[in-house]
Amino acid sequence: MTDILARPTQLTADLPLQVSPSASPVDAVRRAEILADPGFGQHFTDHMLSVTWTRGVGWHNALLGPFTPLQLHPSTAVLHYSQTIFEGLKAFNLDDGGLAVFRPDANAARFQRSAARLAMPGLPEDAFVAAVEALVSIDRAWVPSGGDRSLYLRPFMFATEAYLGVRPAHEYLCLFIASPSGAYFPRGVKPVTVWLSEDFVRATPGGTGAAKTGGNYAASLLAQEQAAAQGCDQVVWLDAVERSAVEEMGGMNLFFVIDHRRTHGRRGGDPSDIELVTPELTGTLLAGITRDALITLAREHEYAVSERRITVAEWRDRAADGSLTEVFACGTAAVITPIGKARSNGGEITIADGEPGPITTALREELLAIQHGTVADRHGWIHRIG
Ligand SMILES: *Cc1c(COP(=O)(O)O)cnc(C)c1O
Repeated sequence: MTDILARPTQLTADLPLQVSPSASPVDAVRRAEILADPGFGQHFTDHMLSVTWTRGVGWHNALLGPFTPLQLHPSTAVLHYSQTIFEGLKAFNLDDGGLAVFRPDANAARFQRSAARLAMPGLPEDAFVAAVEALVSIDRAWVPSGGDRSLYLRPFMFATEAYLGVRPAHEYLCLFIASPSGAYFPRGVKPVTVWLSEDFVRATPGGTGAAKTGGNYAASLLAQEQAAAQGCDQVVWLDAVERSAVEEMGGMNLFFVIDHRRTHGRRGGDPSDIELVTPELTGTLLAGITRDALITLAREHEYAVSERRITVAEWRDRAADGSLTEVFACGTAAVITPIGKARSNGGEITIADGEPGPITTALREELLAIQHGTVADRHGWIHRIG
């Protein structure tokens, strides 16, 4: 098309970015309809950004252009051997009219760690952040406002080499796409019931559990179906070796709120009587950026925060004696989701009264307020897009 502008700019000092705005963007009326009820992961913006890596050349051919399907050779390596990684982060309209992305530097760093584990080239962190800025900037009209809404960004990279031999590919495509999103779970912040999976595991020591890679999700789907068959919303993963330590819930990290005054029969006291436990990063867990942010916020509230081993037995015992007052899961897509009940072959555990707890609710509101710029960003988490 002749009316496509070609505006060269830079992704990094040595990586020029070709910009070709879409000649057929979604019209404003349809876009407004989508933004009014975006759902999750169903609608995409007008543009995408792609960068290619080729052995011997490195990163090249960065292009910000129309959102369009891909054409792949049937022998494309990723389709056979799953050499692929991804990220998830969000852009928000701020209360002051600005536009910002939450902690893109942390996602950039994790994208590099995931790449290293999958024997893929690392996209330089500054190129990752610049790509996010460029895509959000061109598609800023797609950032929904208010409540639980945001523009969900999905960077991903996969082996594009057409070759059936088993080895790290010699060519990769890194893509950035964006999807306006509302609440991740259709029922909103209602507590979920989880299934403690004793038949399947997500990650093994020495495996890929700490990398954000599609294979971990592919391996989780059967367990998710099993959870649904048990009337549960989500799977909770246990450690692969002893099947006793709690690791994660689906694609989210976990927190347990323990009120030690209840074990000691005391009243009053200060916030440090309340312990927030999140499973330690043993190498089989994904190091969530939401998890990291909540550890920081909880410590500011002077709760005792521990990254430690927590077993199903401790979960059951503390739910029974009343010292376990809240359990919640956290991640970029759903922010914070309360957990009301846990089921396993061994029976059912109800946490407190099964309703969202006050610490769960307060942390969720605080994090959302930071992300929307309603309260001051004391931590440098808000990355403004000019
Ligand atoms: C992405 C992900 C998380 C959450 O990470 P955030 O950075 O908080 O979004 C947790 N567990 C798994 C398995 C994940 O893939």
